[in-house]
Order: sequence, then structure tokens, then C-alpha cells
Amino acid sequence: MKTIQDINFEGKKALIRVDFNVPLDENFNITDATRIEAAKPTIIKILEDGGSVILMSHLGRPKGVEEKYSLKHIIGKVSEIIGVEVKFATDCVGEIAEKAASDLKMGEVLLLENLRYYAEETKGDIEFSEQLSKLGDVYVNDAFGTAHRAHASTTIVAQFFPENKCFGSLLAQEIVSLKKILEEGEKPVLAILGGAKVSSKITVIENILDKVNHLIIGGGMSFTFVKALGGTVGNSICEDDKLDLALEILNQAKEKGVQVHIPVDVIAADDFSNEANTQICDINNIPDGWQGLDAGPKSRELFNQVVLKSKTILWNGPLGVFEMENFAGGTIALGNSISEATKNGTFSLVGGGDSVAAVKQFGFENKVSYVSTGGGAMLESLEGKTLPGIEAILK
Ligand code: AMP
Repeated sequence: MKTIQDINFEGKKALIRVDFNVPLDENFNITDATRIEAAKPTIIKILEDGGSVILMSHLGRPKGVEEKYSLKHIIGKVSEIIGVEVKFATDCVGEIAEKAASDLKMGEVLLLENLRYYAEETKGDIEFSEQLSKLGDVYVNDAFGTAHRAHASTTIVAQFFPENKCFGSLLAQEIVSLKKILEEGEKPVLAILGGAKVSSKITVIENILDKVNHLIIGGGMSFTFVKALGGTVGNSICEDDKLDLALEILNQAKEKGVQVHIPVDVIAADDFSNEANTQICDINNIPDGWQGLDAGPKSRELFNQVVLKSKTILWNGPLGVFEMENFAGGTIALGNSISEATKNGTFSLVGGGDSVAAVKQFGFENKVSYVSTGGGAMLESLEGKTLPGIEAILK
């Protein structure tokens, strides 16, 4: 696996695909700059080597040129985070981009305009990719968030740099961390899958059964399993068309020697609201009109025990409706358990959409081993797929 550490960038222009698809408020202020901060180590290494940096990214989903999606809105923040005055090219290909790239001196940083102003980007157009490739001497992919897309800048462009392409440090870290879970995990390996629906995670569950010793199924997903096993789940979220599938998954787990842990009790509410009345009840005996919105105290303790005896942990998906304060307790308890295990030497990886939000919201970010930045890319990796953006560098 070739990374930026294997290349001396002195005198070279690095064309880096970063993921600067950051959230902006109505005044174009960045509300979360994590993605920019995450790209900093790669940029700094190249500048310190004596190279220059050309940054390319998408922002949002513009249909053609739409000013509100211009990357000009983030120039100031990128400059501030990197500590270098960032230059800007108002186009990502063609004369403007080529002139800006050729004028760039070593030690300087250039940011290109939104790649998705061109439909060719998401189509993976080869000529557009070739145009991009003219801008730099070395291609660096540091965008895990888009590594599952075979877009021009994430995948196709790599073929124009047969000898001069590599992973940035963020993407390399993602690959190594996932490998620690999926291939080299010290046993017992535990996966915790929560979130709303079984249907969105079937392929993940099926793939992961070959990799883990324990599987915790929590959150809204668990009710489909409980109902399939004959329980009464009241008004809880449940996918009735997935009951057979749930039983099939449990059978597969048994055959593969994977111990599955499902919550035994829940905090049930009489409405999907933070102000609802609540009661604790057994998960397989939820009264009509009530819905399970969080893991109950017995479940939290059960999961705590499983977590503390695991040496490798993957966590995807919350254990309850953590967005509402009264139903965040199960997710917080799990975060605490994982933090404690991590302190004792367990490798823990949190990834995929909402669990990352939960981890940040409740301050567990620095208490777990690794927080993955890519939602979709992370899920596809867990599904066992080879991501095109990664493959393009390895080829
Ligand atoms: P996912 O994107 O599949 O990881 O699902 C995350 C969402 O699942 C979060 O917005 C949670 O509020 C939701 N969720 C977790 N537990 C429950 C539950 N018991 N009932 C309804 N929604 C839930």
C-alpha cells in the first residue's frame, strides 16, 4: 500500500482529492470543519517536503454551476486550518485551472472550484479525468467519504498516474483501521449494530458474521428480531417483511458460532417524543400503544459485560433515539463501556453516520481508538465490497 510517506514531494505538485463537503449555514459559515482538519496532515507533509498542493473536492450536489455550492466559501477556513494562504481557481479544469496550477510555486496551496459543477465528475468521464490529471505530478487520494464512488476525481483520474499515485494519510488510516477489525482483529471480536432498520444493514450483518465472535443487535433494528422470535413489540419500529430474514440471520449466526445479543428490556414511550410518558418493560412484552425507544437498564448491563470482554469492537448505529435526551441513555452507556474497554487495551472503531454524530455529541471521540469519517464508504467496506477509489490506487 503506497502512501504519502513513501514519496518525497520535493519539487512536485500533488493533486489531492480531499473531502471538503462540509456543512455550511445560510451565511456560508462552516458549521463543522472536521473534514478540513482531517486532511491537514497530508497537506502539511507535502508542503514540508518542499512540494505544492492542489486540492480538489465536491461540495453538495449542484446541478451545474450554482453559486451557493462554490468552494470559494471555504477558502478562508482552509487557509486558517492549514496555516497557509490558499489560492483559488474558479474552475477545476481547462485554461483557468491549468494556468493557476502552472503558476503555483512550491510551498503554495491551490483550491479548485467544485468538481460537481461538471456532470462528468460523477459520471466518471475519462476525458474530464484526463483534464484533471494535467494539473499535478502526483495523484493523492485522501477522501474516504467518496472512496465508494467511481467518480472522475476519486477513481478514474488515478489511471493517468500509473507510477505516481498514493493514499493520503487519512485514507491510509481508514484502511488500516478497517483491516484491524475485518482481517486482523484480536479475539473476541464484537460488532455492535444499531440504528433504525434491519433492511439497510442486511449485507453488513451477513458479511460481518464471518468476522466476529459476538454481535450485539440494538436500537430500532432489534424489534424485528424480537417479533420474529415470537415477542410482542407494541408500536415499536418493526419491519414485518423482514421477520423470516431475521430468523435466517440468527440461524446463520448459530451455524457460524457467533453469539448474538439482543436487548432484554427497553425504555418504552407512549409517543415518539421526548415529552412522552415512559416505562421500562421487557422487550418481548411491550404493551399496545407503547414503543421501545432506548435500551433498558438490564440490556445496558448485559452489553457492558460483552463489551468489556471484547478485544476488538466495531460500533455502527445508536442503541436508541439518542437525538432525544430522554432516550439517549442506552447509547451513552454503551459509549462509556466502549471507552472503558478501549482504556484497557481494546481496539475500538466507530463508524457510519449516526453513531459518529452520537460519539461526537456525547464526547467519546477521543475515548475510542478510531472514528471513521466515511458513512457510505464505511458501510460498503463492512459489506465486504472493495471500494473503487481504493482499488484504483492499489492497481
Ligand atoms: P441508522 O441511520 O440506520 O444508523 O439509524 C439511526 C437512527 O436510528 C437514529 O436517528 C435513531 O434515532 C434511530 N433509532 C435508534 N433506535 C430507535 C428506536 N428504538 N426506534 C426508532 N428509531 C430508533
